[in-house]
Amino acid sequence: MTNVTDFAADFAPGSVWLVGAGPGHAGLLTLQAHAAMQAADVIVYDALVSEDILALAPADTPREYAGKRGGKPSPKQADITLRLIQLAKQDMRVLRLKGGDPFVFGRGGEEALSLVQAGVPFRICPGITAGIGGLAFAGIPLTHRDTNHAITMITGHDATGNVTGVDWEAVAKGSPALILYMAIKHLGAIADKLMAAGRSADEPVALVTNASMPDMQVLETTLGRAAEDIRLHDVKPPAIVAIGEIVRLRAGLDWLGAAGGKTLEADPLGLGKGDSKQTG
Ligand code: SAH
Repeated sequence: MTNVTDFAADFAPGSVWLVGAGPGHAGLLTLQAHAAMQAADVIVYDALVSEDILALAPADTPREYAGKRGGKPSPKQADITLRLIQLAKQDMRVLRLKGGDPFVFGRGGEEALSLVQAGVPFRICPGITAGIGGLAFAGIPLTHRDTNHAITMITGHDATGNVTGVDWEAVAKGSPALILYMAIKHLGAIADKLMAAGRSADEPVALVTNASMPDMQVLETTLGRAAEDIRLHDVKPPAIVAIGEIVRLRAGLDWLGAAGGKTLEADPLGLGKGDSKQTG
């Protein structure tokens, strides 16, 4: 049987591992991430890495906070990269611990390319991205045969902090389900673009804050009301936004709510499919 500590056996001094920590719940950390945390000489972590996860590192492993907040363009990104290189050049095993997955809106690619430039060996250790793991905690599936055969993951703002310059009309027409990261600030503008391109104001939207964490909150709203509800309920990042019919499935799939006494609906889409149909 595999010894789980072996997953970091090749974590060499002088290298950097860019590791995804998942959306926050310590149970969503990979075995590889956990092993790397035990082997690391230093951990450089982001704002979105939870206390629960940091607590899994040996108490005497030095930790450095390299957080960035608020979705602003960060002058500190260059400093973070320089620090990683500096630590690696001191022959340390450097664990760069990032929220979610390092390659999903996490600037993992940028950091790794700087390591390439500096000649520092690295590894990418994937993590569960918030748009998947976080929504699972809210009981929202990314795909479901009766609602969508495609999903699109989008960041709400670009490097300058403005609404992302994707072709919103094409997105509105082509993708039945949208998962937005870093979108709270611009959700009103995004909803307007989607509705202008034909999406209904009644389309369901879920805002999942601190997903997978004990203080997770889920606010169900609609495209037409989302911006107003963000103001009313003072919704703050980090939040994942799900848009589309998949959100309706939560009435049946909110397993966490059910554990707290909520009654689940067996037919949340109202399709009259009482029995599960077995096909091919
Ligand atoms: N690499 C990360 C994303 C980093 S961008 C990943 O794969 O998940 C930061 C954004 O991720 C936040 O603004 C928010 O939209 C989302 N996010 C990360 N963790 C979250 C959490 N626990 N709950 C809700 N949203 C989260």
